[in-house]
Amino acid sequence: MEFTYDGYLKLISLLKEKNYKFCDYLSCDEYDKPVIFRHDIDNSLNKALEIARLEYENNITSTFFVLLSTDFYNVFSKESNDILKEIMKLGHHIGLHFDEKRYEIPNAKELEYWVKRESDILGNAIDKEIKVVSMHRPSKWILENDIQFEGIINSYSKKFLSDFKYLSDSRMHWREDILGIIESEQYDKLHILTHSFWYSDENETINEKLVKFIDKAKIERYYSLKDNIRDLDEIINEGEF
Ligand SMILES: [Zn+2]
Repeated sequence: MEFTYDGYLKLISLLKEKNYKFCDYLSCDEYDKPVIFRHDIDNSLNKALEIARLEYENNITSTFFVLLSTDFYNVFSKESNDILKEIMKLGHHIGLHFDEKRYEIPNAKELEYWVKRESDILGNAIDKEIKVVSMHRPSKWILENDIQFEGIINSYSKKFLSDFKYLSDSRMHWREDILGIIESEQYDKLHILTHSFWYSDENETINEKLVKFIDKAKIERYYSLKDNIRDLDEIINEGEF
């Protein structure tokens, strides 16, 4: 499968053709052939918004997982907050993307404490209660134990990893033949994780995508500074960056 928007649309079309019903973590039990579409936003909210719009245009909804403990975006900044609200307006759901390595977590009780704490913070930021969490780079401990939280669904609990066929494009690589698996209809329930970051109009390598992202950061820094320093253009000479 190509990591382009065309490739992504083909994936959606194939799922529709095979009668999978797009749903979220709360409503999935209502369907015979559910597919939970999930996106972990590891670094770019803008890329997430592009996928959110594409999905809206194709009449599907999904769940976007938002990381609080990241240096790439800030859910409280106006720009980021507006993007999250727009994603919700397009009919999508927002969940918490949680990095367990951010804390020293000795047991499930403590994990629940920090997950709930971050959920409350994110919920406050977007004025919506958070009902589901996904783990950022989950440890073996998370993957191998059916950890349940009170009041918040763990997308890495056994139900969503075993009862559902779980497929992920982590590191821009499907470890299994995603299109073949959908085509064969060998699984009734699918849980598909994609990272919006890997998809674009043009077919690019992982190297090209990452280098472009790094380059773009320079421009973003410039505009952030411009918002804060009135005479920025007089201080730095054109061509200096
Ligand atoms: Zn992640």
